[in-house]
Amino acid sequence: MIALSLAEIAAVVGGQTHDIPDPSVQVTGPVVRDSREVVPGSLFAAFVGERVDGHDFAPQVVEAGAVAVLASRPVGVPAIVVEDVQNALGALARHVVARLGATLVALTGSAGKTSTKDLIAQVLGTKAPTVFTPGSFNNEIGLPLTALTATEETRFLVLEMGARGIGHIRYLTGLTPPRIGVVLNVGSAHIGEFGGREQIAQAKGEIIEGLPEDGAAILNADDPLVRAMAPRTKAKVVLFGESAEADVRAENVRLTDTGQPSFRLHTPSGASDVTMRLYGEHHVSNALAAAAVAHELGMSAEEIATALSGAGSLSRWRMEVTERPDGVTIVNDAYNANPESMRAALRALVAMGKGRRTWAVLGKMAELGDEALAEHDAVGRLAVRLNVSKLVAVGGIEASWLQLGAYNEGSWGEESVHVSDAQAAIDLLRSELRPGDVVLVKASRSVGLEGVAAALLETG
Ligand code: ATP
Ligand code: MG
Repeated sequence: MIALSLAEIAAVVGGQTHDIPDPSVQVTGPVVRDSREVVPGSLFAAFVGERVDGHDFAPQVVEAGAVAVLASRPVGVPAIVVEDVQNALGALARHVVARLGATLVALTGSAGKTSTKDLIAQVLGTKAPTVFTPGSFNNEIGLPLTALTATEETRFLVLEMGARGIGHIRYLTGLTPPRIGVVLNVGSAHIGEFGGREQIAQAKGEIIEGLPEDGAAILNADDPLVRAMAPRTKAKVVLFGESAEADVRAENVRLTDTGQPSFRLHTPSGASDVTMRLYGEHHVSNALAAAAVAHELGMSAEEIATALSGAGSLSRWRMEVTERPDGVTIVNDAYNANPESMRAALRALVAMGKGRRTWAVLGKMAELGDEALAEHDAVGRLAVRLNVSKLVAVGGIEASWLQLGAYNEGSWGEESVHVSDAQAAIDLLRSELRPGDVVLVKASRSVGLEGVAAALLETG
């Protein structure tokens, strides 16, 4: 972060200094909320959680080198005391970001935020120093903490923004106002909490409402609800997608024999070929979003294509492909699942498993509301139509819908089984897997199927 004195920080956040002998001492960073991450020069933000109270760690973080604690009460060691630590953190982030010379890129969507953020960061990173959100650090606390890690050298700051309701993204863009705002898609994630797709679109579209006139709103041309957001911004609108009207689009999209997407990237300034290292065609849309951002920031089609072709996965359990010594391939996509990514993952499985036995070990897709039955049924049917060799549906009622869909689609009874839990799936696979098999493991986060992938890798 950029160095700031305690006096300056106190002024920015409207706090009182307590037990601070010398207010000119500087915080050199980072700002952290986890006492284990404190290093000399840190500012420790004390949050009161459900189980632990950050204030209890005050003596120990100062011992570890923290310059002071950002707290909601005096703690007996150097502290800046404020009414609300979260608001103070936000104010500090806003202050720091305004002083930086960096261009802010913010993105949201129902699925693919982290994957796309990682792509954008890797592409822009080939051009100039780039800071980005680690993992899914995308809420009112994670976002300011990330923004505060930027320094004077930072040219691009790439921020993932999540929304659980109306107004959330407006709050986040207020802290770190982007010049480029990206909306990936409006799916059905958290549809229960929101009340419907229109509300989700309303909430996500907030990311482009505050963009400046010389900014850019990067919108998915293939998603009608995203496209319809265009009138909500005064910035230039740039469309990405496979549809012909898109400014940044992909042609000749196909999967290589290894299941990796390959396509010709078209931007307003030229075209170039991309073959991705990531697996699954859902990444084409993510890559186009990243390309649109990079194009806006002055990169050529060749530069973008080279960077996209070199980009790897920075976040875990997303189509993580590992080959066991006995030649069984495990594809761990247990991080999360929705209907779109289930379809993409099945297609990738089939592409990389050509001539081999393929297994789809699938669990429920959460938060689908009234569409749950139909969506699980459709995924089960697709597995059959794609000729996946074996479907293992894991878990409760949703898993039985997956299996039933498969059963009803073909004459396939024995090829699809329903097991009650992860252990049963592990036991089944341990006895059935043969060298050369390819196994996809995928379900919503709450199912926790990564344990299945881990157990299968240990076996090998
Ligand atoms: P979270 O809300 O948990 O932060 P996210 O939006 O950051 O999720 P990712 O972590 O990138 O999304 O991906 C989550 C899952 O969504 C992946 O495992 C993948 O299966 C799927 N996914 C990624 N990109 C897309 C996409 N463009 N369309 C549909 N599904 C996608
Ligand atoms: Mg994420």
